Amino acid sequence: MKVLLVEDEPDLGMAIKKTLTQAAYVVDWAQDGDDGWGYLEIYLDATSPVVEYGVVILDWLLPGLSGIELCKKLRKRRSTLPVLMLTAKDGEEDKVMGLDAGADDYLVKPFGMRELLARLRALQRRSPTLQPLQLRCGNLRLDWGERTLYYDDAGEDVGIPLTNKEFQLMEYFMRHPNQIITRDQILDRLWEFGGEPASNVVAAQMRLLRRKLAENGCNRTIETVYGLGYRLKQDG
Ligand code: CA
Repeated sequence: MKVLLVEDEPDLGMAIKKTLTQAAYVVDWAQDGDDGWGYLEIYLDATSPVVEYGVVILDWLLPGLSGIELCKKLRKRRSTLPVLMLTAKDGEEDKVMGLDAGADDYLVKPFGMRELLARLRALQRRSPTLQPLQLRCGNLRLDWGERTLYYDDAGEDVGIPLTNKEFQLMEYFMRHPNQIITRDQILDRLWEFGGEPASNVVAAQMRLLRRKLAENGCNRTIETVYGLGYRLKQDG
């Protein structure tokens, strides 16, 4: 899942990004409010290449647009993207203001990274637009908590532990079975915006993922659709 983080404190932003990346999220990090809105406008613009955020983490006090203003602008565009607000303000009035602006949850600084991850999981559970903690597709089951892919082998579940990128790829394919997924879609979705990964990085990751599936006896293959991209067949 891709997360947009809008946080101006470098140390905290870096720590959050590191924690989330280790937990298999992909993070776009904006360091002020105006930059944050730039990312959100790309997300909201249906005609642009699709950047799919699962959740946005907004710091309240930011240079430029504040977290509250960003949240209000987002809701004005009728977006239901889940918002987790971060702030040093912990008065009841402040919390009410944050929630009234359209935030789904609220985390008071300083907070522990384990709590941040738990709040994100809670948002995932609550939001119908986000994936459940387990995703099923045919005889495949992806377990978010264990970061493991299970496949049904004659009635028995066989688990394949995945790396972060392998997990993210499987999640993307299992959420779009039978669809041709292009290399650009994979880059937009699973790599950081502006990160400019090497051009063959998707092909290399796909090779690793397929090899791991095959080595573990999972014969559900992700096929290459020549010149177009990749496809996970629903019944294979
Ligand atoms: Ca701040």
